[in-house]
Amino acid sequence: MSEPLALAGLPWPVELRTHPRARRLRLVLDEPRGLLRLTVPRRVSRSAALDWALRQSAWVEAQLARIEPVEPLVTGATIPFDGGEAMLQWEETAPRTPRLTDLVLTCGGPPERFGDRIARWLRDEARQRLIEETRALTSSSGISDAPVSVGDAGTRWGSCSASGAIRYNWRLILAPPPVRAYVVAHEVAHRVHMNHGAGFHALQARLYDGDVTAARLELRRIGPRLKRVGRG
Ligand SMILES: [Zn+2]
Repeated sequence: MSEPLALAGLPWPVELRTHPRARRLRLVLDEPRGLLRLTVPRRVSRSAALDWALRQSAWVEAQLARIEPVEPLVTGATIPFDGGEAMLQWEETAPRTPRLTDLVLTCGGPPERFGDRIARWLRDEARQRLIEETRALTSSSGISDAPVSVGDAGTRWGSCSASGAIRYNWRLILAPPPVRAYVVAHEVAHRVHMNHGAGFHALQARLYDGDVTAARLELRRIGPRLKRVGRG
């Protein structure tokens, strides 16, 4: 892997990766990082790979056109929140700690730190709710309590470590409750089965009060937008 390369014919820099098992050239949009990942088989030269990438510019432009812009946390913006849409509002006389009233999230304080305060509030809210929702599920199903934390772990919505600690993506607070509940059921099921085998799926279905497949597809559909919130 090398430093991303800016090419005149492409809108995003290109990051080359030589891959011993790659059979052909492959170009992927890495949306969070704002670059193009070019996978190069060992037998293909660097200049031939870049020539090929340049010829994909029409495809790249078409992909970029489909990507919605990032959604920064600024006053007046509307973000998905817990199944609805919440409006962000800076108010000079309001307290620095954001307050949510009727889907309007308001705070005061220095305007240049508005986005940071909103982001911190969303993370705290995510942590509290995900802890509660996880506890509710473990206790009702007789599964032992799990330490729960939140972060922004790249592409994953949740993970369960070998020791049983569950970590969620804070952006789940932006998702509708049934979608969040599906991720909680998934991770809690991992407390019993550290794999995706038949036993795991049976337990996950028992823990989730709804259609697992529908929830998974819904998360996949809305996921890209949730990941754009708070960037830019
Ligand atoms: Zn899993």
